[in-house]
Amino acid sequence: MISFNVPPYAGKEKEYMAEAIDNRKICGDGDFTKKCNSWIEDRTGTAKALLVTSGSTALDMAAVLSEVGPGDEVILPSYTFVSTANAFVLRGASLVFVDIRPDTQNIDEKLIEDAITDKTKVIAPVHYAGVSCEMDTIMDIARRHNLIVVEDAAQGVISTYKGRGLGSIGDYGCYSFHETKNYSMGEGGALLINDEANIDRAEIIREKGTDRSKFLKGMVDKYTWVDMGSSYLPSELNAAYLYAQLEMADVINENRMASWNSYYEQLSELEAAGRLQLPVIPEECEHNAHMFYIKTAGLDERVELAAFLKENGIGSVFHYVPLHSAPAGSRFGRFHGEDKYTTSTFERLLRLPMYYGLKADDVTYVCDKIKEFYAK
Ligand SMILES: *Cc1c(COP(=O)(O)O)cnc(C)c1O
Repeated sequence: MISFNVPPYAGKEKEYMAEAIDNRKICGDGDFTKKCNSWIEDRTGTAKALLVTSGSTALDMAAVLSEVGPGDEVILPSYTFVSTANAFVLRGASLVFVDIRPDTQNIDEKLIEDAITDKTKVIAPVHYAGVSCEMDTIMDIARRHNLIVVEDAAQGVISTYKGRGLGSIGDYGCYSFHETKNYSMGEGGALLINDEANIDRAEIIREKGTDRSKFLKGMVDKYTWVDMGSSYLPSELNAAYLYAQLEMADVINENRMASWNSYYEQLSELEAAGRLQLPVIPEECEHNAHMFYIKTAGLDERVELAAFLKENGIGSVFHYVPLHSAPAGSRFGRFHGEDKYTTSTFERLLRLPMYYGLKADDVTYVCDKIKEFYAK
């Protein structure tokens, strides 16, 4: 049996978690949380990184910081995870879905400007599969229309666009460290704040709306309730687990990349024969092998292939039910323009097993089974 995903374990997680316990420091913002924050800052160049409880709550915080509310519109792809949308819906904003590109499955930057109205406040690009959106174009549109950019970089940790870390380019970046992501803490995430002017407010919102972080730095002599907020701090136990993974980030990345490249090479003959499509990585993007997917001819073929792989002990996964066609999506938003690729990508795309430690022989076995399917 080849699982679709196995949560990453790098080696020192238990040792670091025991250290957090021995330190008698298990709530948030201890040494391991600080080490993780610094690691992300060093790696991406963001002004401030803050560990939070999930990729979803990183997005929630970014939505609060963006001050979106009823009457405001947020532009995002319909081909994404629900959390990208929920964050803004929770603030009362309306969603405007835009179609994706057929090569990267990312929001089509050329369609964004036409979707802007006088109510638009935020653009939320999602870096699908850890491959960057066309950020220069998106940032240029945002600047000209005075819009905030919230990058959903949940899948894009350590990926880059023109050498810049994903999540560090827009106003805010949101990472996920869920067990299905490249680096994990079980449940967790990080918010990247790229404009120094927004750091204080982010720290307050994360600390239940109090200025406790200023108090801890000795900047005020008592702390008090100053703004809206909630508890977005993860436990030190989770941060300790994550830090063991971040220390090994390059090793994990190289291992995933080897699997990704092997899939790509072994399946390229099927692509050359016009049987399926493989991922496209634009020249300015360096990705992180977050996922390997193929695109079949259509829905029936994808369903049959997934069933065939399952019969042969191989886990595969498809997603996302386009948000605009989901019950909540039509209530909270509208699709702007034509759905040329969103629904068809959902119908055609199949994700293959991909995790740290996936065996080379297993990748070959999966590729052989796919070749066998197409030979029939
Ligand atoms: C995983 C993911 C999220 C949510 O992250 P959680 O840590 O599971 O809350 C948000 N957006 C995208 C694109 C994701 O892949």
